[in-house]
Amino acid sequence: MSNKVENFGYEYKHIMNTSAEKKDKAYEFCEGYKNFITKNKTERECVKSIIEIAKKNGYKEFENKIEPNGKYFINNRNKAVVLVTMGKEMFDNGINFVVSHIDSPRLDLKANPIYETDDIAYFKTHYYGGIKKYQWPTIPLSMHGKIFLENGKSLDLNIGEDDKDTKFLITDLLPHLGQKQSERKLSEGITGEELNIVIGSLPFIDKDEKDIKDAVKRYVLSILNKEYGITEKDFVRAEIEFVPAFKASDIGFDRSMIAAYGQDDRVCAYPALMAEIENIDNQKTSFTVFTDKEEIGSEGNTGMVSNFLFDIVEDFAELLNVKTRDVYRKSMCFSSDVNSAYDPTFADVFEKRNSSFINKGVVVTKFTGHRGKSQSNDASAETMARVLNILDNDNVTWQTGELGKVDIGGGGTIAMYMSQRNIDTIDIGVAVLSMHSPYELTSKLDVYETYLAYKAFLKNNF
Ligand code: MN
Ligand code: MN
Repeated sequence: MSNKVENFGYEYKHIMNTSAEKKDKAYEFCEGYKNFITKNKTERECVKSIIEIAKKNGYKEFENKIEPNGKYFINNRNKAVVLVTMGKEMFDNGINFVVSHIDSPRLDLKANPIYETDDIAYFKTHYYGGIKKYQWPTIPLSMHGKIFLENGKSLDLNIGEDDKDTKFLITDLLPHLGQKQSERKLSEGITGEELNIVIGSLPFIDKDEKDIKDAVKRYVLSILNKEYGITEKDFVRAEIEFVPAFKASDIGFDRSMIAAYGQDDRVCAYPALMAEIENIDNQKTSFTVFTDKEEIGSEGNTGMVSNFLFDIVEDFAELLNVKTRDVYRKSMCFSSDVNSAYDPTFADVFEKRNSSFINKGVVVTKFTGHRGKSQSNDASAETMARVLNILDNDNVTWQTGELGKVDIGGGGTIAMYMSQRNIDTIDIGVAVLSMHSPYELTSKLDVYETYLAYKAFLKNNF
């Protein structure tokens, strides 16, 4: 007989202490992720790549016909996309939804962006999503987006990602003259109207024309016209996004982490994509959704506030002769979004017992929201029990996490828009350090564990 008292406590462990054998596979998986995130820096680029990958894996554009085990994609305006795998049960027992977002904080161009002052040409920007503005000057920027020309043709722009490409930059004041600037609050260290991108410095020269007004702007416009056929007016019918021109990179001597732009939320989108395309021969139907506009409140007809996803479900339900409301009440949704990882350098904003940590697995978030949980989907105990069952059955390492201290933290995801439709929903994704910065940090083990979590969910026939 032992006198040892059993320990009924529970502690989240480093993945290397729960499943060290996954390390090699995790590192390999993340090579694919690094390529994806380096190549796809805007929602449009993500949609294009996701559809290409889907097609290679047997997905066809949905055309009002459904077959058992069929795989379909539905493209919403080139900015959001839905991948569907029909299970053997079709819609009989609801849908497994995995919803991530593929928009990230960035600098958009204003409608009249080009100006010149003191022989330097600039673009005026309007930031998109929550950024710390002071982080954006003095880093290389690239230009992405779509622009329609007068003749009705459109161009997809991508300038600054290739090593040989030119790049763009926002300036900051030298410290020697920055004393007054340093007295500003950090949030005003660089203001929105100071986020002006340098785009040229040579004047347009014409020996027959004297005193050319705005000669530098004119020279930039002449290059844009010669190389792309663009005129100044075309910027009104454009969506141009400036993003950091960084490639994803390993971080640390042990190469255990990944730094990249736009990991919120492509660090969940990529594992969701991989889990979805590998979802074959299942009982239950999956809808893996890559949505837009999450960073500005899911607004617009490519965001989750719109009916785009729910109309697609209705299209399917009509063909299958079932009611959407019956489908939703049996469905479950993984709202796949990131959580704020505990940062020891800024420990005072976190409540350590209820924070997520890098390398401790996929983060299950019962509720997000602000203060008294407002604007959150507060998942029920029943939902939590189902989710933990799914994860534990497949030996997925998981942890829980809130977004900072109760009175400090806050944030929202698409979870509330799914649960509004009467779908059991849980937030589940990767813990991120330096979230919303130009170069966010994640752990390779966590990225892989998140992929395993989504796989476990999609194959689960609860
Ligand atoms: Mn997010
Ligand atoms: Mn975000």
